[in-house]
Amino acid sequence: MKIRALTLFPKMFDCLNESIVGRAVKNGLIDIRAVDIREYTADKKHFKCDDTPYGGGAGMVMSVQPIYDCVQAVDPDHEYLRVYMSPKGETLTDKTARELAAHDKLLLLCGHYEGIDERAIELCVDREISIGDYVLSGGELAAMVVIDSVARFVDGVLGSRVSHEDESFADGMLEYPQYTRPPEFMGLRVPDVLLGGNHAEIEKYRRECSEKITAERRADLIKAKTAASVNDENGGR
Ligand code: SAH
Repeated sequence: MKIRALTLFPKMFDCLNESIVGRAVKNGLIDIRAVDIREYTADKKHFKCDDTPYGGGAGMVMSVQPIYDCVQAVDPDHEYLRVYMSPKGETLTDKTARELAAHDKLLLLCGHYEGIDERAIELCVDREISIGDYVLSGGELAAMVVIDSVARFVDGVLGSRVSHEDESFADGMLEYPQYTRPPEFMGLRVPDVLLGGNHAEIEKYRRECSEKITAERRADLIKAKTAASVNDENGGR
């Protein structure tokens, strides 16, 4: 999978060299590059990439020309799914991450300051994605959240031991609690069922924990799951 992040701050993406995503890059499973939008500005004297907003208002807006030329240089034949990171976009979910992972070329456009000229969205963007209802100072951290969540669904990235099908959201539920050695710490014991080795019992216990925590914390997920299964029974009608 190829991922290109278009940004005014390419160095921010250096932290993707660590951990699971870093290993996936080293193993050649994902090719991630941060592309500096500033290199594409027509202003070769000051390398300016932003300007004051028409109509007035605070802050600066990223100009359309450097963004347009940068997108054209990276993706001249529109082979990439072009995503703009934006608080106005659809909220990133497990389902979105799976959908994005099905593309083998992903372009993530990061805004900064007050955002980007609307014409850059009209001309260059297929999809707008938000990572939540709050405003960040730039799209870089949001793009890295997308990259991390998407990378987990790229074949080989998590390795054979780990399955994402057990994890929170995979089946519309939150995950059961996890424990590792020692069996007792500060008087807190690991539940006996997990030490017993009866796989059917363990599975039942985990399913019950999963249902309980989801009901307590995310009743909305249970409601969505019930609605989806009713819809399935009706043949999607
Ligand atoms: N003025 C804009 C916010 C600009 S924030 C507004 O009110 O909608 C600057 C940049 O940060 C944006 O261009 C976007 O790329 C990024 N950004 C901010 N919040 C984000 C979020 N919740 N999800 C994804 N990207 C976000």
